[in-house]
Amino acid sequence: MNSRRKFLQKLGLGSVALITAPTILAQEAKNDQRAINKYKPPVVISTWSHGIQANEEAMNILSKGETALDAVEKGVRVVEADPNNHSVGVGGYPDASGHVTLDASIMDHLGNAGSVCYLQDILHPISVARKVMEESPHVLLAGQGALDFALQKGFKRVKLLTPEMEKTWKEWAKTSIYKPIVNFESHDTIGLLALDEQGRLAGSCTTSGMPFKLPGRVGDSPIIGAGLFVDGEVGAATATGMGELMMKTLGSFLIVELMRNGKSAQEACEIAVKRIWDRYSDDQNSEFFQVGYLALGKNGDIGAYAILPGFQYALAVNGENKLIDSDYLIKK
Ligand code: ASP
Repeated sequence: MNSRRKFLQKLGLGSVALITAPTILAQEAKNDQRAINKYKPPVVISTWSHGIQANEEAMNILSKGETALDAVEKGVRVVEADPNNHSVGVGGYPDASGHVTLDASIMDHLGNAGSVCYLQDILHPISVARKVMEESPHVLLAGQGALDFALQKGFKRVKLLTPEMEKTWKEWAKTSIYKPIVNFESHDTIGLLALDEQGRLAGSCTTSGMPFKLPGRVGDSPIIGAGLFVDGEVGAATATGMGELMMKTLGSFLIVELMRNGKSAQEACEIAVKRIWDRYSDDQNSEFFQVGYLALGKNGDIGAYAILPGFQYALAVNGENKLIDSDYLIKK
C-alpha cells in the first residue's frame, strides 16, 4: 500500500481518493478563472481567532493615519501581552526544559527586515525585532545576544512562564513525548499583514513556537521568507503551523514571488501549500502536518489556504472585522 493511502487510512478516509496531481492541476486551471478577492485599503489580515483583537488595534492605528508598520507592530503586541494565549508571548507554552523562548519578525514596504529568535524574558519580541531592523546593522539576533540588545534598548525583563503553564509543563515532563498538535488550541502564532491608505504594506509574525520543542529550536516565524515576507511593490505573506515545513520550502517568499509572476494571492497560497504536500506527504508523521498561509497583495488582493481544515483568519476591511474559515487542501 502506498504511503498516501496509509495516510488516508490514518485519517479514516481509506476509501476516499486523495487529491492527486491531476486533480491539483485541474484546481489550478479552475483558479485561473476565479474572481480575485480584492479590497480597498486599509486592509488588515491575521492568523487565527486572536487576530480579531490584533486587527482591531491595527485598524485603530491606521485610522489615526499612522503607518502600516506601526499597525503590524502594535496589533500583535496585544496578543503578545495576553497571558491567556498559550502560543504567543507571556503565557506561551515552554520548551522541553521549561523555558518560554520567543521568535518574531517584522518587515516594511521598503524591504527592511528585523527579527529575533530564541529570545527569553522579554514581553514584546516584535518590538525588539523592530529595533533590530531600525537600530542595528543586522537582520536577525538570537538568544543571549538578542536579550542583551533588548535590555540595552530599554526593554525590561519579565517572567514569561505563568503558573498555569509551569503546571502544564511539569505534567508533560512526566512522559516528555513531543507530539505536534494540529490546530493547537485554534490560535497558534500570530502573523499579521497590513496595507495602509497610502498603499504601504507591512507584516509581523510572533510566536512562542511549538509546545515542548527541543531547547534551542527556532521555527519559521523569525526566518525572513519562511514565516514572513513583504515586498512593497508586490505583496506580503505570513505563515502559521509546523514551522519546519515552511522553513524547508520558504513558503512566504514563494507566495510573494508567485504574486510577482501574476498569480492572485489565493492562487499563490494554494500553490505554496501544495508544494509542501507534494514534497512531504509521504512522511510518517504527515497526519500532523498543518500549515496555514495568508497573503495580501499591494492591490488589496487577499489569499488564505491551509493543508488541513481548522485554520481560521481574521479580516478587517470596510469597517468590519471578522473571523473566516480558510479553505484547505485535504478534503474528504
Ligand atoms: N509556526 C510556529 C513555529 O513553528 C508555530 C505555529 O504557528 O503553530 O514555531
